[in-house]
Amino acid sequence: MKKIRVTVWSEGIDPQLEPRAIALYPNDINTYLAEFLGKDTDFEVVARNLSQPENGLSQEIIDNTDVLVWWSHLYDDQVSDEVTNRVVEAVLNGMGLLFLHASLGSKPAKKLLGINSNVGKYREVGEMERVWVVNRSHPAVEGMEKEYIEIPGSEMYGEPYGIPTPDDIVFISWFEGGEVLRSGVSWHKGAGKVFFFAPGHEEFPVYYNTEIQKVIGNIVRWLKPVCGPAITFRGEIGSMEPIKNPVKK
Ligand code: ZN
Repeated sequence: MKKIRVTVWSEGIDPQLEPRAIALYPNDINTYLAEFLGKDTDFEVVARNLSQPENGLSQEIIDNTDVLVWWSHLYDDQVSDEVTNRVVEAVLNGMGLLFLHASLGSKPAKKLLGINSNVGKYREVGEMERVWVVNRSHPAVEGMEKEYIEIPGSEMYGEPYGIPTPDDIVFISWFEGGEVLRSGVSWHKGAGKVFFFAPGHEEFPVYYNTEIQKVIGNIVRWLKPVCGPAITFRGEIGSMEPIKNPVKK
């Protein structure tokens, strides 16, 4: 089987601003995610980041990406419009895109999903989160040990969350403080697919959890582009069959 080409992108961590995050991810979150995804023989993984030329996502990189994994939080404004449009265009043409944690605030997410304000409430006290499976037939839950994943310390994101109604809901999280969140949801966009998976606050070791790693791997597999037919759908076209009484203009 041809390997799925995965690009894991993140914005970088400022050690002064986020000492706890840098302690967990000394080489940034992209590298950590790329490391565990790279152990999966289905994937060929590269890590890219915001500080690289063209925000780390040149046309060449995007052209060689089947699935883009995105982690951003603080520096969304630094992503250029050109790179944003490149990512959006690639999704519409088939590339899969996984938005992790706070990444729905990113420019590509806003453009693809029509999100135009802060998406929702949050609380950052390290409370317990249970990520419940609500769709047993979705490939994202393949091989899970239990019907939920328990994260001992998490950041709460709560409903109502400002996302468009998803095409599918795979996970709903319950938080110790009482709130809930549609924490694993997906949309079909053009020829591509988009998945939002909420767990992953940078100051808690959420991505160290092997069940979370398994689910992220499953999602990446599901996001793989589909090689469908080329479709003509823009502009006036001639009829395929003779039309008996066409109205003359
Ligand atoms: Zn966070």
